[in-house]
Amino acid sequence: MAAAAVAVPLAILLGLQLHALVQLQETATATQRTALRAYTKAVLRGLEDFYRAKARAALAVPAQSLRDPSPEPLAAHFAAQDGDGVRLFFALAFDAGGPAPLRFFAADGRALALPEAAPEARAARVAAAPWQLVAEEGGRLEAASSVVSEQLPAHRVIARPILDADGRPIGVAGLVIDEAFVRERYLPAAIDAERARLPEPLRAGVETEVRTGLDDAGRGAAAEAGDEVELPFRFVFSDWALAVRGRLMSAEAWARRSLRINLGLSLLMTAMLLAALGLALRSAARATQLSQMKTEFVSNVSHELRTPLASIRVFGEFLRLGRVTDPEKVREYGEYIEAESGRLTQLVNNLLDFSRIDSGRRSFRFEDVDLARAAAETLQALDVRLRQGGFRASLRAPDEPLPPIWADRAAVGQVLTNLLDNALKYSGAPREVEIELAREAGCVAISVSDRGPGIDPAEQERIFERFYRIGSGLVHDAKGSGLGLAIVRHVVEAHGGSVSVRSRPGEGSTFTVRWPIHGAA
Ligand code: ADP
Repeated sequence: MAAAAVAVPLAILLGLQLHALVQLQETATATQRTALRAYTKAVLRGLEDFYRAKARAALAVPAQSLRDPSPEPLAAHFAAQDGDGVRLFFALAFDAGGPAPLRFFAADGRALALPEAAPEARAARVAAAPWQLVAEEGGRLEAASSVVSEQLPAHRVIARPILDADGRPIGVAGLVIDEAFVRERYLPAAIDAERARLPEPLRAGVETEVRTGLDDAGRGAAAEAGDEVELPFRFVFSDWALAVRGRLMSAEAWARRSLRINLGLSLLMTAMLLAALGLALRSAARATQLSQMKTEFVSNVSHELRTPLASIRVFGEFLRLGRVTDPEKVREYGEYIEAESGRLTQLVNNLLDFSRIDSGRRSFRFEDVDLARAAAETLQALDVRLRQGGFRASLRAPDEPLPPIWADRAAVGQVLTNLLDNALKYSGAPREVEIELAREAGCVAISVSDRGPGIDPAEQERIFERFYRIGSGLVHDAKGSGLGLAIVRHVVEAHGGSVSVRSRPGEGSTFTVRWPIHGAA
C-alpha cells in the first residue's frame, strides 16, 4: 500500500521526465547544429571582411599616381598598406596610346620586374578585362567596386577600377592573394578564435576541415549531413568549403549523454526515496514493537512484584499467628521470606538501575575489586535460593591468585546476580550452575554456565536488548522484566569490558564477562 503510494507518483514523474528529456534531446541536437553553423559562418565572414577591407584600402590608388610614368608614387602608396595576405600588388593603366603598361609591386611596396608572359600578368589582365572594355567604349561607372577573379586558381586576384573625375575607368589596381598565408596563418587563427566562443561541451570535440578545389557540382552540393555542417567560402576562394563536425561528441551523442545522466539521477532518487521509505517503515515497526514490549514489561514486572510479596505475606502470617511451632519449619519459613525479599531487592535494584541508565544518571565508583571474592559473596547471598531450588553450584578459579579488576563493587555484584538469577530461573533438570574464573590478556574472565534449555543462535544478540524476552520456541514460564541482560551489557561496557554468550538449544548456556584489570581499563 505504502509502496504503491510512492511507486505510482514516481512512475508518473519518471514518465513525464522521460518525455521532457526526449524533447530536450531533440532541441539540443538542433541547438548544436545551429551553433556549429554560426561558428562556420563566422569564420567565413571573417575572411571575406578581411579581403574586402584590404581591397578597399590598398586598391584605392590615386589617378595621378597611375598616370605618372615613374613607379615611385605607386610604390609609395602600396608600401603604406598592410601587406598581410598579399603576394603582389599591381597597377594597369588603360593608356589610349601605346601598349598598356602593367606594373608589379611586392607586398612591401618594392617595384618588381615580371616578364610580360608571367602567369601573374595573365591573371591581372584577365581580371582587368571587363573594365578595359568599358574604357574602350568610353563608358562611365558610378563607383569603383572590388571584383575577384579566380580563373587561375594559383593566382587569385582582387581588382578594382581606378576612375577619373568623370567616372571613366583609366586603369585597374589589384592584388594577388597569398594563399599560403590564408591556409597556414589566417584560417588556423580564425578557427581558434571562433571555436573559443562555442559553448563549452561542444568546443573540445569540434573538428574543422577546409575542402579545396570543389567543382561547380561540389560547391552547389555543399552538404549538411548527419552531424556535419559544410558551407562554401564567399568572395574569395569560391571553390573552397569549410566542413565542421562535432568529432568527440556529436549533437546526438551529447543529448543522449545528458538523457542518460538525468535518467540515472532519477533512478538514484527513486532508490533513495524507497530506501527512506523502508527505513521509516522499519523504525515505525520498531516503535510498535517497543511499545508492545513495554506493555509486556509492565505486566511482567507487576507479576514479579506480586509473587514474592504474596509469599512473604503468607509466611509472615503463619509465623505471626504462631501456628507453626516446629523450629525446623520456622527456620524454613524464615528462609523463604529471606529468599523472596532477596529476589524483590534484586528486581527493584534492576528497575532503579534501568531508570538511571535510561536518564544517563548511572555513575560508578571505581576501585580494585577481587573478582573471586565478589563471586563467592554473590553465591553466598543466593545460597537460600540455590538450596530451595535444589541446585549444585561450583566455583572454580585458577591456582595462582588473580589480579584485581578495576570496577564498581556494587555493579560487579549486580552483574553476577543477574547472570546467576537467569541460570537459576531458566535451568532444567540437571540443576547445576558453574562459575569459572580465568586470567586473560589484560582482563579477568568470569563465566556462568547452566544446563538449561539453551538459547537459539538467532536470539543470542537480541536477548541483550532492553525488554527483550524470548517468548516462544524454548518456552519457559519463568517471569522476568527483560532488563537483566541489558543492564549486564551496559555495566560491563561502561567498565571497558565485554559480555558474550555461548549456547546451543538443549545444551545449556555459558555467559562470559571480561573485566579489565587495573591499568588496562
Ligand atoms: P529476564 O530474565 O528478566 O527475562 P534478561 O534480560 O535477563 O531478562 O534475559 C532476556 C531473555 O534471555 C530471557 O527472557 C530468556 O529468554 C533469555 N535468557 C537469559 N539467560 C538465559 C539462560 N541462562 N538460559 C536460557 N535463556 C536465557
